[in-house]
Amino acid sequence: MTTPPTLWHATTAQPAPRPGLKAGATTDVAIIGGGFLGLSCALHLALAGVSVRVLEARRIGWGASGRNAGFVVPHFSRADPMMIRARLGADAGARLLDLVAQGGDMVFDLARRAGLGAQAEQNGWLQPAHSAAMAQALQVRVRDWQALGRPVEWLDARAMAARSGMKLYYGALRDASGGMINPLAYALGLAQLAEDAGAMLHEETPVTDLTRASDGWTLSTPAGPLHAGRVLLATNAETRGAARPLGRAVLPLTVHQIATTPLDADTVARIAPNREPASDTRTNIFTWRLDADNRLISGGMALVPLGAGTRLPQKIVQRAIRELRLPADITLAHAWHGTAAMTTDALPLLTEIAPGLTGAVGCNGRGVAFTTALGRALAQAMADNGPLPLPTKHPYPIPFRPLARHAPALVLARGLWSDARALRHPPTP
Ligand SMILES: Cc1cc2nc3c(=O)[nH]c(=O)nc-3n(C[C@H](O)[C@H](O)[C@H](O)COP(=O)(O)OP(=O)(O)OC[C@H]3O[C@@H](n4cnc5c(N)ncnc54)[C@H](O)[C@@H]3O)c2cc1C
Repeated sequence: MTTPPTLWHATTAQPAPRPGLKAGATTDVAIIGGGFLGLSCALHLALAGVSVRVLEARRIGWGASGRNAGFVVPHFSRADPMMIRARLGADAGARLLDLVAQGGDMVFDLARRAGLGAQAEQNGWLQPAHSAAMAQALQVRVRDWQALGRPVEWLDARAMAARSGMKLYYGALRDASGGMINPLAYALGLAQLAEDAGAMLHEETPVTDLTRASDGWTLSTPAGPLHAGRVLLATNAETRGAARPLGRAVLPLTVHQIATTPLDADTVARIAPNREPASDTRTNIFTWRLDADNRLISGGMALVPLGAGTRLPQKIVQRAIRELRLPADITLAHAWHGTAAMTTDALPLLTEIAPGLTGAVGCNGRGVAFTTALGRALAQAMADNGPLPLPTKHPYPIPFRPLARHAPALVLARGLWSDARALRHPPTP
């Protein structure tokens, strides 16, 4: 298996592969998947004194956790406080909002403990509004979060222009607890913290099947079986092997990312004087952030998936140059992609597939902060033998999945038109 050429893999030192599983092993909890969710859960279980093993099919951070853009966003992409309360009711809604809100601080606290240094910057996260209607909706959201005691504020159009050098936005939501990290360094840091706390991590160990046993579960791997009292499926959008029941309940969305050559100090001071990452409200979302060496990172999704890996990265760079008025000599330095798990209701899915077999998936492209918080909450529930932290749902397979997986491209196609219409009416100076 070749290492995926992400910016993070090219610039982050990786430890030697961890040993595979030895046949006949046992553990209280087995976690399948070495991304943020599995690693956060493993760390917090080990800290609570529970014996735990993580089985990762490839390397730690191989999945979305090592390929994402590293925006630490304690918000979902579409679900806001009002919608969450309406869908889940007051009690469960409050628990989910609390988990979402904790995520940012938790990530940066763990990043500090893992020694990430300049690879983790808690400078706040911006969500600029590209239309008057979105500005209104975001101001309601700001007030909702403020009522929950969160450090969220509304910046007007002038303040947003001063923070980006861009005059097209009507203002922005700013969450001071957000920021940006090197996601691979964070995954590797979580893995190290988990091992230090007593968790056992096994790489290159795909779990091919799960069978119910009298006192737990037997996990089949090429190295032999593992017996576990409980199992957490933290396999994201994967649909092969043991991950099948969870992966079929979400739609996979391919997200493309690029990093440019480093920007000069004047450009950095103009487009990100406070080094805040930003994700705007367009359907064809425009995102930008810097890494520790001032490379610009942006992303996008393809209308036509065929050949997108070769076509799209240059288009994303050209868009960033145009929108942020970057110097024309800025070029593409890294391009990669990964798979995000999307749910039809825009909320994450927590499921009890069978007694002692829990699964969680579906962060809809905003999983860095949330999976960290959910991993800790799941660990607490398992360590105390208590109820799961959020309501569960059965992981019904998405109907007509091969067709339904094209739905995000259709939404994007429609959104391109409405984005263009909104941008014809920029805010008045
Ligand atoms: C390109 C991209 C950009 C993104 N950008 C952001 C962002 O900026 N901010 C944000 O908040 N979110 C972002 N996201 C979403 C975020 O990355 C994910 O929500 C999060 O990483 C999910 O973590 P996870 O642990 O659930 O899954 P993953 O990190 O995908 O981990 C699942 C792991 O399970 C392993 N696995 C699967 N099947 C098996 C098996 N049978 N046996 C053993 N192991 C198995 C896989 O190899 C994988 O390593 C982005 C996603 C993508 C794809």
